[in-house]
Amino acid sequence: MTESIKTLPLVFEEPKGRGKPPRHLADLTPAERKARLEELGLPGFRARQLSTHYFSRLVDDPEQMTDLPAGQRAELVEGLLPHLMTPLKTQEADRGTTRKTLWKLFDGALVESVLMRYPGRVTICVSSQAGCGMACPFCATGQGGLQRNMSTAEIVEQVVAGARALARDEVAGGPGRISNVVFMGMGEPMANYKAVIGAVRRLTDPTPDGLGMSARGITVSTVGLVPRINQLAEEGIPVTLALSLHAPDDELRDELVPINTRWKVGETVEAAWNYARVTKRRVSIEYAMMRGINDQAWRADLLADVLMRGDWGWVHVNLIPLNEVPGSQFTRSTDQDTDEFVRRLLARGIPTTVRDTRGSDIDAACGQLAATEA
Ligand code: SAH
Repeated sequence: MTESIKTLPLVFEEPKGRGKPPRHLADLTPAERKARLEELGLPGFRARQLSTHYFSRLVDDPEQMTDLPAGQRAELVEGLLPHLMTPLKTQEADRGTTRKTLWKLFDGALVESVLMRYPGRVTICVSSQAGCGMACPFCATGQGGLQRNMSTAEIVEQVVAGARALARDEVAGGPGRISNVVFMGMGEPMANYKAVIGAVRRLTDPTPDGLGMSARGITVSTVGLVPRINQLAEEGIPVTLALSLHAPDDELRDELVPINTRWKVGETVEAAWNYARVTKRRVSIEYAMMRGINDQAWRADLLADVLMRGDWGWVHVNLIPLNEVPGSQFTRSTDQDTDEFVRRLLARGIPTTVRDTRGSDIDAACGQLAATEA
């Protein structure tokens, strides 16, 4: 391990005093939506119509909400469907099947989401925080620190906006629907637990209360906040858990994923295993392959040892070719070293795949999201 990789201070507190994002129906349960309208002196039963426009019809233009009385439409829309975020820029790659959107939130905070179309499925990668406090030294988002947590509605709106673009045939490949949501954009979802769980509920609530997606299509990726992993296991929403491990030994992981100084490899993997046991969902172990850092054959063997829990049915290893971040000392492993790493894990019986690097040419791949307005 190189000496120069510094463990940056962890930032858990978000800056105060910027005000809160506008409250939106996606922040609320159906009963709360009704109550909110009544609070505003508007008829509560309209909440369901507004929810239908938002989640089922994917309509955002009040003009198209013709079942709402024209005289009250503006007030109703303002009450439950306030404007949350503005797309500043959209970049496309892979012949238009990968689309990155830069969003400006109400307070000027910037976040990004990435839509990826594959044969037979569409995945949207969403942000859960503006910036990130976890300070992983190889990740672009980690370099700027945390600005703030996103609200449930701000998280959900990224998905709904993607769904709208697909429904309106704005994405190469014809009209479509979102099948998968991955919390692998900016931020540490487990450090914004309440809003993220709210978003997962909105995504899975049946229409028109929510988007009606299957929990199986949702992946929450975490550095390994152990108490939150345990809490997630008890929520009764069987989302897929991805654990960003990146090293099988504490000495190296303390540097690569600084939260490891708080929760060690052993307890983190134990929590992931418990998650798999409770939810019956296979956990995905994320491992970004960094040349000469974590890609040695002996570390593949050690990774296999660390993941051994009875049998391999509970886990799957996803190797991510490192996306090189400008100015970073970390570089991508060679294909030979990656192949050998895969070979050793497979030889031990661990299901292992290498992730594609979709969108890397528009800085839209894992760990590249930095959200600058330049
Ligand atoms: N905070 C969450 C989500 C982050 S992004 C987490 O850490 O899991 C999703 C994945 O991209 C994580 O596994 C993260 O470690 C990985 N990643 C970060 N920077 C990367 C880079 N430069 N190249 C490849 N993967 C990277």
